[in-house]
Amino acid sequence: MKITDVQFIISAVRPEQYPEDGLPEIALAGRSNVGKSSLINTMIMRKNLARTSSQPGKTQQLNYYRVNDMVYLVDFPGYGYAKVSKVQREKFGVMIETYLRERELLKLQLLVIDIRHAPSKDDCLMYEWLKHYNIPTCVVATKADKIPRSKWQKHMKLIKETLGMDREDTMVLFSSESGLGREELWNIIAERAVT
Ligand code: GDP
Repeated sequence: MKITDVQFIISAVRPEQYPEDGLPEIALAGRSNVGKSSLINTMIMRKNLARTSSQPGKTQQLNYYRVNDMVYLVDFPGYGYAKVSKVQREKFGVMIETYLRERELLKLQLLVIDIRHAPSKDDCLMYEWLKHYNIPTCVVATKADKIPRSKWQKHMKLIKETLGMDREDTMVLFSSESGLGREELWNIIAERAVT
């Protein structure tokens, strides 16, 4: 996918702030530190547009990036950060569930998982929400460069089994370090964005 234009549009804290131009949305969820910002930067070929440095768990907002006037990448706050207060956690829950339930422009959810580890309880809960709201999901197993190629299949199988993944959901091996999976993921996004 050739990236001709990327714009950071808004950090939205309320649904009234979501863009109103009707472009399809592809959302990204994952644990803090899983590599979600790096993945976005790799997808859009920018070094630092998605803030890798943003403080984990502090702000509960949806970051909207418009790509090629074709699609929005919508970055959820990272979850599972130990020091988050109960109030913050509840805010996250309400915001995300409302978005999943009501945002008809959401065409595909990317659930980003570190390939080295089995999905956490929070990852499993997020996947359950997605299935509850019938959201097509693509699990992105990132940091693939951190384990030998010979172990990829075994780790992907563990992720699939732990999440209890639906057959119709896809999984992509990814590395922000090498760019592995970038084209494949854009193809999956482009296909979903037009349906
Ligand atoms: P976020 O909190 O989910 O946005 O995570 P970041 O994108 O900030 O990444 C967390 C850390 O993992 C950073 O030190 C990144 O450089 C590193 N990282 C992210 N993706 C990859 C990857 O694919 N391969 C390797 N080797 N490191 C990665």
